[in-house]
Amino acid sequence: MLSDLTKRIGKVLVKPFRKHLLFLTAFFILATSPYFVRLIHNHEYFYSFILFMHCSLVSYLVTLLIGLIQHKNTRRFVQILLIGVSSILFILNIYCIFEFHSLVDSDYIMLVLGTNFNEAKEFASDMIPFNILFSIISVFFFLIFLCLFSNRHPIKFGKTLSIIALGFILICALKEVYKWGIWEDGPIGHFKEMYLTFNDYDMPDESQLIHEPPIISFIENQEMPTNVVLIIGESFARFHSSLFGYEKMTNPCLKALYDKSLLFCIDSIDAPAPITSLSLQYMLTTFNREDKKHKITKWYEHPSVIELMKNCGFDCYWFSNQARAGKLNYIARVFADSCKQTFYYQQEGAIDYNNRLDIVLADSSYQYVQKLNLKNHHNFIIYHMMGSHFVYSKRYSDDFNHFSKNEYLKYPKNQRETLATYDNSILYNDYVVNQIIGIYKNLETILLYVPDHGQDMFRSSHDYHTHGKINDPVSYAYGVEIPFMIYASPLYQERHPDVIERIKYRQNHTKVWNSENLPYLIMDLIGVKEVDGVAVHPKSLLN
Ligand SMILES: [Zn+2]
Repeated sequence: MLSDLTKRIGKVLVKPFRKHLLFLTAFFILATSPYFVRLIHNHEYFYSFILFMHCSLVSYLVTLLIGLIQHKNTRRFVQILLIGVSSILFILNIYCIFEFHSLVDSDYIMLVLGTNFNEAKEFASDMIPFNILFSIISVFFFLIFLCLFSNRHPIKFGKTLSIIALGFILICALKEVYKWGIWEDGPIGHFKEMYLTFNDYDMPDESQLIHEPPIISFIENQEMPTNVVLIIGESFARFHSSLFGYEKMTNPCLKALYDKSLLFCIDSIDAPAPITSLSLQYMLTTFNREDKKHKITKWYEHPSVIELMKNCGFDCYWFSNQARAGKLNYIARVFADSCKQTFYYQQEGAIDYNNRLDIVLADSSYQYVQKLNLKNHHNFIIYHMMGSHFVYSKRYSDDFNHFSKNEYLKYPKNQRETLATYDNSILYNDYVVNQIIGIYKNLETILLYVPDHGQDMFRSSHDYHTHGKINDPVSYAYGVEIPFMIYASPLYQERHPDVIERIKYRQNHTKVWNSENLPYLIMDLIGVKEVDGVAVHPKSLLN
């Protein structure tokens, strides 16, 4: 009786090797192999073997579970579905491993959503290297061969081999118990991370954007400036700015303004998130991370800085060199479209789509701004730059090809070219911001420059750059370190000496401040006391 039961259990346990070996192999290669291949690619051989064992166990368990489905067609359907999804993930993963030394993760997917399909294509159009194509094609040929072969000769292990394989799986299981937590680096942990990120992602439909106008109270007798300008930068890591201590001169133009006390640099400021779509939610509304934590309200239920400025009597204008974005993500567009007038310079379908350089922002807005100022209204003008968005080498013109990889010899070989192109993009950014400032130098203007977030430039790991990772505290911390600059035109300085004193004080006495409170700083600058009952001063940078 007992031996009968043991036999039956044994039969079930070896089924993945006896009956579903083809599925097991395909699943193992497509769904799990990128996890240990990545480590081999990074020369971490021992840990890659540990992950190999974990992946074997996961593949075995998945195959075993599916094998329990009695209905043949249902089982086939589930198998085909899993192989289909795994194939897509396999291609993406292998591409990312060879291109960026990391797996496709929520950051990349958010990047795709945070921009749009065309920008994602830019990733790929950078030429898919031959070795990647070769690896992917050979794996698929191998699987097709196995498939055809199995039609004539069923692929399965013999009895002895099955028992040996089962023994190996048992060792893997024991290892798993002994070294609990390894799943975090395998497919299960990977999916968990992606789930956590997407859970954070929140887009309204149009009806949800309509709400009560904010209640605003003003400080008496405070004069409002004619022009408030906000330049939203992109992917600018503070530790790559010479104005904030970086060894290479990446901010020469702005340094000249700084030396004349026209530009002020405020240190120690963090962005609320390392990804555009998330950080803009906080930066441009009164929504903050505490609200998010308590899940009481959503970002789009809070007034945006555009709404606030409109209610204070400002006309709002938006100049953007970022994509208009599609349905999945149009966070920037929600703000842009609520302005009096919006200009997008990335023309979909154009040859230089998403590669148009930021100087277009300065060139195209010059005349427009001069005309606005003739009317002597209060203007709130926003520039949304492409900045140093990955791919860095596409963000500057040839004459800004100043830094070369030979100047980065103290860094590992794989980082040099990337660091050089990144610094060139910062150098170009310096030029463009200076050109935009030039438009306002003879007008009464207070101008803020703040990027949406920074970049983890190989700081958290020797082989990772681009956005700080949401679920990696070290990468996250680097990814939110941003430079913060305030320009005040001579005319503004003459009319608002008290504000200048406060800015100078803050420049010399830094405090912990997050750019999620940007709307309160802007409110402070135009003399607002309270927004919806919340005092502006305590939340302002200048307090
Ligand atoms: Zn961004």
